[in-house]
Amino acid sequence: MDILIVEDESEIAKLIQLTLEREGFNCCCCGDGLEALQAFRQQQPDVIILDLMLPHLDGLEVCARIRQQQPGAKDPYILMLTAKGEEIDRVIGLSTGADDYLVKPFSPTELVARVRALLRRSLRHGGGHLIYRTQHFTVNVDQHTAERHLEQGHSEALELTTLEFNLLATFISQPSRVWNRTQLIDKLWGDDFFGDERVVDTHVARLRKKIELDPAHPQFVKTVIGVGYKFEDEGV
Ligand code: CA
Repeated sequence: MDILIVEDESEIAKLIQLTLEREGFNCCCCGDGLEALQAFRQQQPDVIILDLMLPHLDGLEVCARIRQQQPGAKDPYILMLTAKGEEIDRVIGLSTGADDYLVKPFSPTELVARVRALLRRSLRHGGGHLIYRTQHFTVNVDQHTAERHLEQGHSEALELTTLEFNLLATFISQPSRVWNRTQLIDKLWGDDFFGDERVVDTHVARLRKKIELDPAHPQFVKTVIGVGYKFEDEGV
């Protein structure tokens, strides 16, 4: 998931970036409203963290312009940042087009929780862009389908349980990223998980049986000794 951080106070921008990158998000920062629009068009982020008071164009104007974009373009979730007392009423107002707001100063934990909540909404609503393709697989998150590509443009549907599907979707969303078990549990079960982390290994083994040609020598879902797992495949 890609996040655009728009904040003119560089200390705060850095802190937000560090916090979110630690959670595995790809982030990019810019410091004024006009740059924000340009970065939005180029990068099509999933979430924009948008400070209210910005040079050139303020956060409300940036938000309005993003919401007026061409139909078909990606519609990001917008989390507005505001200082205490700084026109909070206008931010909360539905007319701004922001999905949520956070009052400064906020804790890193609070920020991460808000971003995750927005992304859960985006997954539930489909988002319209969640199709991942690599050389050997296509995963369509909206339609909950996964295919393995065969020779000569053919492909076969993979019959996966919900958990296996979510595991594959998580892996393919960030190829080559190394995941530890805690991160995978967080992705797959969220806060509802109670039990042994080793349950991840069981589901990885099941997924391998369905997607690997030789599950004993996996080509795609690889074990990273002492850490966890990563998914590897060529892009298309
Ligand atoms: Ca500011």
